Formats: sequence, C-alpha cells, structure tokens
Amino acid sequence: MSAITEGIGAQKTAGEATALMQRLFPLCRSITGDGLRETLRILGETVSTMHVTEVPSGTPVFDWTIPKEWRIRGAHLADESGRHIIDFRDSNLHVVGYSAPVDKRLSFAELQPHIHSLPSLPDAIPYRTSYYKENWGFCMTQKQRDRLDPQATYHAVIDSELFAGSLSIGEAKLAGTSGNEYLISTYCCHPSLANDNLSGPVVTALLYKELAKRKLRHSYRFVFIPETIGAVAYCALNPEDVRRMAGGFVVTSCGGRGQFGIKETYRGGHIIDRAARLALRDAGIDPVIYAFVPDGSDERQYSSPGFRLPVATIAKDKYYEYDYYHTSLDDLNFVSGEALAGSLQLYLDAIEILERNVTVQSLNPNCEPQLGRRGLYPQTGGGLNHPSQQRTTIENEVEAISWIMFLADGGHDLMAIAERTGFRFRDIAFVARKLADHGLLELADA
Ligand code: ZN
Repeated sequence: MSAITEGIGAQKTAGEATALMQRLFPLCRSITGDGLRETLRILGETVSTMHVTEVPSGTPVFDWTIPKEWRIRGAHLADESGRHIIDFRDSNLHVVGYSAPVDKRLSFAELQPHIHSLPSLPDAIPYRTSYYKENWGFCMTQKQRDRLDPQATYHAVIDSELFAGSLSIGEAKLAGTSGNEYLISTYCCHPSLANDNLSGPVVTALLYKELAKRKLRHSYRFVFIPETIGAVAYCALNPEDVRRMAGGFVVTSCGGRGQFGIKETYRGGHIIDRAARLALRDAGIDPVIYAFVPDGSDERQYSSPGFRLPVATIAKDKYYEYDYYHTSLDDLNFVSGEALAGSLQLYLDAIEILERNVTVQSLNPNCEPQLGRRGLYPQTGGGLNHPSQQRTTIENEVEAISWIMFLADGGHDLMAIAERTGFRFRDIAFVARKLADHGLLELADA
C-alpha cells in the first residue's frame, strides 16, 4: 500500500491542496510584486507563523542586485481594426514576465522578435521572462501566431511599470530540541503554472501545517522565495544560519501525472538523500533518480561553495522532464490533489525518518541474547512488512530483531539497518524501541 493512502488522511489533504491551488493559480506572480505578495498572504493563512521580509530594489546581494519591482495592469496585441488578438486578461502567460511598458504600432516583421510560441506544442502558450535585461514581448500559441498577417501592422500595448520597490521573502520556523535545523525551501515566482511551480509552495505550506501539530526533535525553517534571486538574497541576509543548517529540501514540481523522482544533494548519499530514498522505497515507489547537477533550482545557491548545504528534491514530474513544462498546458488539469497529497506524504515520511533516526548500541554484545527468556520471541504474526517479499510472519519479526542486535555496534543507525535489511524504517524503529524497552539496546541521537 503506498504512502498516499495512509498517514495523514489523504482525501482531506488532496481536497485542501486542490482548494489552495485553485485560489493561487490565477495570480500573476513574478520575482517581485503584488502577485507574489498576495501569494505569500494566502499561504500565510496555512503557514500561521509566516513572516514576510521586503528587500528593497537596488540592495546588493553577493554578486547580484535586487531588481526593480514589476507591476502590470494589462496588455494586449491588437490588429488594425483594434481587435485584441491576445489579451493579458485571458492568460497572464501572454506577456513576457518583466516586460517594460510599450504602446507602439509595428509591422509584422518588427513584431517578430517580440513574439514567442512553441511549434512543437501548437496549442500551448510558452512561459518566458526577461528579468535582468529590459525587454518586452508577447507569448502566444503557435496556432495564434500562424494566423497573423505578414502584410498587416499591429498595435502592441503593455501597461506595466518597473520601479524602485522590493522583493518579498516569506519565512516560518518550527523549533525542535536537537540543535539540528533543516531547510524547506520553495519558490513562488511563476505565474499561472501549476506543477512548476505552484505545487511547491502548496505542498510546503501543508507540510508546515502538518509538522506544526507535532512535537519535533529537529528544527525546520520554511522559506518561500522567488527562484534564484530570492535564494541568493536569503543566503546574503542569513549566511550563518544557512551554513549552520544540517540539510534541506527544495520543494518543487510535485503534483504532476508522471513518475516520482529524487534529485539528489550535491553530496549524494547524505542523510537527506537516504531519508528521501527510504521514504519512497517504504511506500513501494521506485523513483527516477536524478544525480546532482549544478542546474535546476535553488539548491544551486544553498549548495554553492560558500554554503555547501546538501539539498534534495522529491518531485512528481520534475521540472524539465515533462512536455508541458513552462507552458500554459501545465495548468490545474495537469496536477491532481491526489498527486499533491502523495508528495506531501513522502516529504513527511522523509522528515519522520530524520526525526526518528538514532544509532543503536547493544547492551548485550557478547553473542546473541536469549529472546524467549525476555518474552521477546513473538507469539503471533505482527505488522512487520518486508518490502522485498511482503512477508508478515513471526519469523519476520525475529529476523528484524536479529539484524538490529547484530548491527548494534554503535556504528549503525536505524536508517542503515533499514537500508541493509529491506525492512521498512518504521518497523525497524518500532522493534528497536521494543528492544530498548527490554534493556537490550541503547538508542542515541544519530
Ligand atoms: Zn520553472
């Protein structure tokens, strides 16, 4: 049974995720501006301790500078009769993000460099931006483009403004007791695009809400930022915090129709990678593994030489990997509440593994303990589930006990035992707790 159908009440979560997606989807987000602010405000209804910082335009952040703020009121491309061929009101993807204002009549030829379309997906509007080079443009379907008349002139109107404003960063913290802090970062700068990227902030917000109910061992810091520039700004504003953190996740593209995948941390084999892999394995999911490359999302900043924070992503239809990526077809029909709830459960499972992982030291290291004398020999089949064989037998629990006691030399943690034996992490943790209660094991912070 997959993790999707157990744990946190998948149906309710799917409904909650869908409702949040529907509310946020229409907003015209960008790396700055009121669409981003309104997104953070709505997410703040779920992330109850969300604090928003405004970083002024012109602020230097390492090698970058916080850009001017972008505001757009409307835009259209009209033909000679004044008929709107495309209008921003129909889709906020029709305008290249950060387009400078324009009100100009152009020939068909003059218009060409300002039009973006996708011949390979003739019904899709592509998503394009020009944040750092002042420009303007329209995005349209290839079918719309093919209907343009090469002899005609066109009227391009973009009612936008670039001005000294600020870039918004949302942040929330949940405190544990271990001294370890993990980063959960997500970006919220794409306009009406569902999987990449609205699924990320929605799952992150629900992850916060679920973890906020629990007594936590580790601390978690949730960061909601515009991609790249927001992560650079966050690192510049909080350098010591980022360096001190134990690892993290960038939550993105996790609500699609395709396969689950893990983008590994730059370290590979780090505890974050292992927790993600175990969570998926224990849910019976065989993910696509994407080895780290310095291309992708905000792990590029967090893992850069000055920070070296290991950051992974659990995705479902990872960015770059699906046909509708960065097009208008990545809409609310492409994602599902069930997929979002499934990804949320996997992130929760990975965090649960980090929360419960301990090293095990045998208090009976000299040969095997006698289980029967201690009442540890199981009398009836328990709930242990061996993923490789799906066995649930008495022998199965004895096998788990034997492995834990055998590996309890202080050099193994519960994750390593689960990895080596194929038993689910939660079963290994359950049996280890029982052995500790019987005085056979000492459990120490991993
Ligand atoms: Zn993207």
